[in-house]
Amino acid sequence: MIPIDPLWLLVLPLLFAMGWFAARLDFRQVQSQQRTDFDELAAGVEALLEDNSQEAMDRLLAAIRQNPEALGLQKALGRYYRQKGLPDRAIEVHLALLGRTPLSDSLREQLVLELAHDYMAAGIFDRAEQSLDLLRPGTLAQQALALKLDLMQRQRRWADALTIAQQLSQAANDPQAYRIERFHFLMELGEAAKAAELISDHPRLQAGSEPVLGLHVCGVCGFQTRRHYWQCPGCHSWDGLHLIQ
Ligand SMILES: [Zn+2]
Repeated sequence: MIPIDPLWLLVLPLLFAMGWFAARLDFRQVQSQQRTDFDELAAGVEALLEDNSQEAMDRLLAAIRQNPEALGLQKALGRYYRQKGLPDRAIEVHLALLGRTPLSDSLREQLVLELAHDYMAAGIFDRAEQSLDLLRPGTLAQQALALKLDLMQRQRRWADALTIAQQLSQAANDPQAYRIERFHFLMELGEAAKAAELISDHPRLQAGSEPVLGLHVCGVCGFQTRRHYWQCPGCHSWDGLHLIQ
């Protein structure tokens, strides 16, 4: 099967959005505005066909800038940038959206959460945390907490990570939730006895302080390393690395 570039998924909704946008303007405005929008969009599609995704993204971004009604599309473009490893551009798109008024509370919250993901992907942890603190307790609380848990782990703030994992477990009404994570957070904090109450037969309880050497591969993300880590340096999952040589 031929792989479909996700940029194509952006193009179709843009066409619909521009039709709707055009219907709201008077005829003369429509003629000039529509031509510019479609010129940019056509150039973007052409760049896609030539497999020039940088050019395609620039053109689509220009088309979107001229078409401020396509909010969902802009959110999608921000997410696309992040997945392509371009968090700076995702930040640009999401900040530009947040700077616009009026925005509904719900959309603003979603954008702030996206922005927190962007900052996290860019390694700007303090801004990611500030963004999460802007969210009010509500519908996005679980997603915000889950992202905050990632954030604390990336910064090795194990006590904070433990607190958040406990909150998530309580919110899910599941005492087993995040059990492996909580076990390792306690081990990182030097609380082996409390960790053993969660998982009494975990090999880490018997392990020495020196890491096991040899080729290890992560079963979650495929990361390879010459020594063992309890937390994969590639995907940050716990207990994913296995000795293969
Ligand atoms: Zn991994």
